[in-house]
Amino acid sequence: MGAAPAVVLLSGGLDSATVLAIAREEGFATHALSFDYGQRHDRELDSARRVAQALGAARHLVLRLDLRAIGGSALTADIPVPQGRTVEAMGAGIPVTYVPARNTIFLSHAMAWAEVLECQDIFIGVNALDYSGYPDCRLEFIEAFERLGNLATRAGVEGRTRLRIHAPLIRLTKAEIVARGAALGVDYGLTWSCYAPRPDGLACGRCDSCLLRAKGFRAADLRDPVPSAP
Ligand SMILES: [Zn+2]
Repeated sequence: MGAAPAVVLLSGGLDSATVLAIAREEGFATHALSFDYGQRHDRELDSARRVAQALGAARHLVLRLDLRAIGGSALTADIPVPQGRTVEAMGAGIPVTYVPARNTIFLSHAMAWAEVLECQDIFIGVNALDYSGYPDCRLEFIEAFERLGNLATRAGVEGRTRLRIHAPLIRLTKAEIVARGAALGVDYGLTWSCYAPRPDGLACGRCDSCLLRAKGFRAADLRDPVPSAP
């Protein structure tokens, strides 16, 4: 018998790349799932493709899903991305980069694919420590979704599979995530975190995602292979 399949949500960022490496390390045949959801730039999808290949995903599915038609976020509508915020400010409220119900939408698709694959394990790179205050990155949300998954699917109701949502980064700092991924051989040079790349292609260095990433590499005492604007 081959390795058990797992569906891994893969954005192309640092966290999800680390999670893909963890799922592989745990012996799963990884089925990476990314979304072309109308995000402002397709840089992160290119990264997702490269990361999936580099980390030996058995399959990589990119689903199209036009969240721009819904909007409501700086990542899917013409709303400026906040720049230069402190980590304290990031923790103080839910910013405009929040995409309405994004992780619920993504996990729902992951759950559907998992049911077809007869797979009971879904991995997601949410993190509740060094994050932007998104409500769908909290442990309570993940636990609630796992319950929902077991009520919502034929596989769950017939008792053939018991869905588990793995969120291995949930209690890690960004530095711990980077250190873990580096130990597992993740090439962070393939990943992309910036919400607002500059016209010259560099990461902006000032959005929440860039700042959290920089903080992680600094605290882990590692160099970020992806250059950002000075
Ligand atoms: Zn940025």
